[in-house]
Amino acid sequence: MKNEWKDPPAPASHNADWAAFKAAIAPVETIDEPALVKQKSRDFYWYSPVLKRQLGKHFGDLVAIPKSEEEVIKVASECAKRRIPLTVRGAGTGNYGQAMPLAGGVVLDMTSMDKIVSLDKGTLKVQPGMKLIDLEAQTLPQGWELRFHPSTRRTATIGGFIAGGSGGIGSINFGVLRDRGNVKALRVVTVEETPRIVTLVGDDAQKVVHAYGTNGIVTELEIAMARAWPWTDCVASFPDFMASVRFAQSLCEADAIVKKEVAPIAWGAAKYFKPLLGHLKEGEHIVICMIADPSLEAFKDLLAEHGGSLVYSRALADESGEIPPLYEFTWNHTTLQALKVDKTITYLQTLFPPPQHVALVEKLWKAFGDEVPMHLEFVRLGGQVACFGLQLVRYTTQERLAEIIAAHEAAGAPIFDPHTYLLEDGGMRVVDEAQYEFKRAADPHGLLNKFKMRAWDERTPTEGKWAEVNL
Ligand SMILES: Cc1cc2nc3c(=O)[nH]c(=O)nc-3n(C[C@H](O)[C@H](O)[C@H](O)COP(=O)(O)OP(=O)(O)OC[C@H]3O[C@@H](n4cnc5c(N)ncnc54)[C@H](O)[C@@H]3O)c2cc1C
Repeated sequence: MKNEWKDPPAPASHNADWAAFKAAIAPVETIDEPALVKQKSRDFYWYSPVLKRQLGKHFGDLVAIPKSEEEVIKVASECAKRRIPLTVRGAGTGNYGQAMPLAGGVVLDMTSMDKIVSLDKGTLKVQPGMKLIDLEAQTLPQGWELRFHPSTRRTATIGGFIAGGSGGIGSINFGVLRDRGNVKALRVVTVEETPRIVTLVGDDAQKVVHAYGTNGIVTELEIAMARAWPWTDCVASFPDFMASVRFAQSLCEADAIVKKEVAPIAWGAAKYFKPLLGHLKEGEHIVICMIADPSLEAFKDLLAEHGGSLVYSRALADESGEIPPLYEFTWNHTTLQALKVDKTITYLQTLFPPPQHVALVEKLWKAFGDEVPMHLEFVRLGGQVACFGLQLVRYTTQERLAEIIAAHEAAGAPIFDPHTYLLEDGGMRVVDEAQYEFKRAADPHGLLNKFKMRAWDERTPTEGKWAEVNL
C-alpha cells in the first residue's frame, strides 16, 4: 500500500554566475525577469493537492529559449561545464510537476523550435516545440492527422507529449506512445561538456519516450501519422452508468464503426461540464464519442440497441458556438472542467486490465459511488479493448486518498499515481533500466530535470544524491 509521498528537497536557487553564463551562451535568447521565470517554472502540478503542497515554491533561475539545435548544444554544454541544473519545457501542460525545476537552474523553453521538417507518406519529422494544433493545421490539408493526441491538443507541444505524455484521443485505435510503431525515431542532444547528437531509431526511441526529459534533450521527432477522417463529436446519454459502460465496450468491439474517442463519464463528473449542461439530461451518465462521418448511422443504431439517446452532436470541423471540441471534456480535461467548479476535487489514474475490465469497473463503481465519480477512457492495449479510469475524487485528506488508492490496487486495478513527481512512481513503479542506462551516458552529471528519476537519485554515487547536492 502506498500511503506517503516523498517530499522533494527544499526550494533553493542555483548559485551560478548568471551574467557569465548568459555571455557564454549568446546569442541564445534568455529571460531573467523573476515573474516571467516563475511563470515558466510552472505546469499543472496543482491538479494534485499533494504536489501543490510539495512543489509550490520551486522555481528556476533563468529561462533560455533556443531557436536551433546549435543553440540547444550551446546551453547544454555550458550547463555541463558549470554543473547547472537544466529542465526542458514544452508548453508546461504536464500535470505531475514534470516541467518544474526542483533544484533551480536553467529552464530550457523549446517552443521556438516549432517547424515541420518533412511529411512523407505518413511519416512526420518535426521539431519538438511545435504545438499539436499548429502541426495538424499543416498535415490535415495533406490528408494526415496525429494517430492520437492529448486533450491539450490546442496548447501542448509534440516534444512535451512524447517526453511527458502517454496516450489520448485516438488511443482506442493506436494504443499508447510506448506501442511499437508510433514513435519511429528521436534525435537527442546530450548534456555533457561537449554534447553529442544521438539518433534513437525504432525500439531505441523508447529510452527517451515518457522519460520526463531526464535523460536527453529531444531536438527532432519522427512519428507515424494516421489517415485523416471527418469526425463528429457525439454525446450519448444513459440513465444507468453500467449500461453506458457496456455500450462503450460494444462500440469499441464494433470494428466497422470508425471511432477516435469513447469515454463514459458518470453524472457526478459530467455535472461540472458547464458549457455542455444545456444538452445533458439531469442525473444521466454520458459517453463522449468521436465518430467518423461514414459510421454515424451505424453508431446511432448501436446506441438505440443499448437504450441510450444521442443528446449532442457536431462536426469537429465546425468551430461555431460556445461549446469547445468535446475532447476538451475527456482525458485530463474532465478533471480540469470539474476543478473550474469545485477546487477540492482531485483524481486517479487507473488501469482496468482486460478482459475483466467491465466487471472491475462495476465493482469499484458500487464500492465508491459518488466519492469517486467514474470517468473511463477506452483504449486498445496489446490488441485488446481495455479502459483507463481518470476518476474524480472528492478529496478530504491525504490518508483517505491513500486508502482509496489501496482499495483499487487490492481489487486488481493498478493506479498510475498522479500525485507524485517521480518518474517511476507515476508509472508501474519499476525502474526502466534502459532509460536509466541512457541517462548515465547522456547526462553523466545528473543535471537534467533533477530529482525526477528515482533510480538516479538512489543509485548514482555523487552528484545525483539527494543529500549531496550543492545548491
Ligand atoms: C487539462 C490537461 C489534459 C491533459 N490530457 C492529457 C492526455 O489526454 N494525454 C496525455 O498523455 N497527457 C495529458 N495531459 C498531460 C500533458 O498535457 C501532456 O502530456 C502534454 O502533451 C505535455 O506537453 P507540453 O508541451 O505541455 O509538455 P511539458 O509539460 O512542457 O513537458 C512535459 C515533459 O516533457 C519534457 N520535455 C518537453 N520537451 C522536451 C524535449 N524537447 N526534450 C526532452 N524532454 C522534453 C519536460 O521536461 C517534461 O518533463 C494533460 C494535462 C492537462 C493539464
